[in-house]
Amino acid sequence: MPYLNPYKSSGTWIRCNFHGHCSEHSTCGKVPLTEKTKKYNNINTACLAITDHNCITDLSEIRKEFPHIIFLEGFEYSSGPNFVVCNEKIPSVLHLPPKEILSSLKQALRFVCHPSPFANGQEYWSLTSLKEMNQYFDGIEIYNGHYGISRMRETGYTPDYRKTWDILLSDGYHIWGYANDDFHEDDDFNNAFNMVLVDAITPANIIKAAKNGSFYASTGLFLKKLIVSENTCFIELCEKAKGKLIGGGRVINEQESATFKFDLQKINEPYLRFEAQKDSRLLCLQPFFWLT
Ligand SMILES: [Zn+2]
Ligand SMILES: [Zn+2]
Repeated sequence: MPYLNPYKSSGTWIRCNFHGHCSEHSTCGKVPLTEKTKKYNNINTACLAITDHNCITDLSEIRKEFPHIIFLEGFEYSSGPNFVVCNEKIPSVLHLPPKEILSSLKQALRFVCHPSPFANGQEYWSLTSLKEMNQYFDGIEIYNGHYGISRMRETGYTPDYRKTWDILLSDGYHIWGYANDDFHEDDDFNNAFNMVLVDAITPANIIKAAKNGSFYASTGLFLKKLIVSENTCFIELCEKAKGKLIGGGRVINEQESATFKFDLQKINEPYLRFEAQKDSRLLCLQPFFWLT
């Protein structure tokens, strides 16, 4: 196949949220950690990262309370354009400058959060700095659920950063796209998540898969089947939706269906990605990059 398939051929799809806060350690957080975790437990979340602002929250108690959930330590760097780092264990590095923080945590999952959060296009993470910092990140958030709630939309925010993603992908940057609730308050719950394909449900496997693109981002639409063979890619959704194959920043194919089949040998693009939408619910597979 001319493209690099980021997905494992088999495994278990698990639901993961890599960005969220608790009221104990983020002043903007409105829900205590235990209460929040109960909600995530109810929707079968397998992995939850706690990423408070400039704070690595101690998870020893919550891990005992919910032993079947994998909790990841982390933080949201908030002393400049924000980014999130999470892993099973995060050392205390917050006193360091951002580039040193990121390069000392190469094994962790590292992504830019809400890269273009303003609906009017006002700059937050500039394209220049995203490109300059690209080597330090596994990807960017392409959807931030907190910025999609009505209170935030009314004050000028937008949750959807697919445009920024396609610009960077078209310019040759190999970055993955994550979707997270960025949970602060009850309205943020269950708006955006990642379905990660892992061999075994362990923190190391989840981080590895999330760093290697073996996941899809979702706001409520689910994948039923994904089969990538020698030259074709077969995608089956759990329901009929509008599916788009995107490459080089443009739509190559668009159809309404529950199943999609693409002959990858016939398409020559630096990257290819598939997304589907039904009402306001979105699903984004990770890009397949052209093998050079
Ligand atoms: Zn916050
Ligand atoms: Zn946040």
